[in-house]
Amino acid sequence: MLENLQYNIRESARARNVTLKVNRSDGLVVVVPRHFDQDLVPEILVSRRAWIDQQLERFDARPGKFDVDWPPKCIDLRSVGERVDVVYGSHARPSVKLKQDGRDLLLTLPSGVCNEHIVTVLTRWLKESARRKLVPIAESLSLAYGFEYARVVIRAQKTRWGSYSSRGTLSLNYKLLFLPEPLATHVILHELVHSVHMDHSDKFWEALEVVDPAARLHDQQLLEAWKYLPAWLD
Ligand SMILES: [Zn+2]
Repeated sequence: MLENLQYNIRESARARNVTLKVNRSDGLVVVVPRHFDQDLVPEILVSRRAWIDQQLERFDARPGKFDVDWPPKCIDLRSVGERVDVVYGSHARPSVKLKQDGRDLLLTLPSGVCNEHIVTVLTRWLKESARRKLVPIAESLSLAYGFEYARVVIRAQKTRWGSYSSRGTLSLNYKLLFLPEPLATHVILHELVHSVHMDHSDKFWEALEVVDPAARLHDQQLLEAWKYLPAWLD
């Protein structure tokens, strides 16, 4: 429900309740009283979704997915410190061709290709990149801190950055590629700590803070991490 909803949270010393504001420059802003439990925000947004959509439409504050940064000139995979320039070419064949050549990503397009087709090809490349880059990171983190898992899979979850199943499957969202490195590491460590504590109890948080001392801050920052994702990516 909330996967495409972009918002900022603003703490206000004067606010007594949670209020929602929509304006053209900031989009949706959630004003919360100081010390408000921000984990509750997504639930509030779900309950106000109809109103929010109406406001966003009125202010046209939510740009369409192809309105900005399209077609992308570069793709910044922050979490792995890699940035590629996208170089476009055309050919007479019907398929989109993608080839990585060092720091260049060569995209050869048929004439009249639709945007969604290009996104599909880019997404496939991103998932492959995630497999190549994020899986080794998960392996080295688990070795460094002594966590165990059965396997790592790269997925395209709509609403979560990662998960850990009771069978020991560590699932990582390929979109972690776009996050700043500390946030991506935080997500992977969070899921790895679930190999020891399957809940979010105090013991879980204690264990997570041992390996990620800024875990609570990173957890907060994840709420706004959508802003690192390109708009064209769904
Ligand atoms: Zn968790």
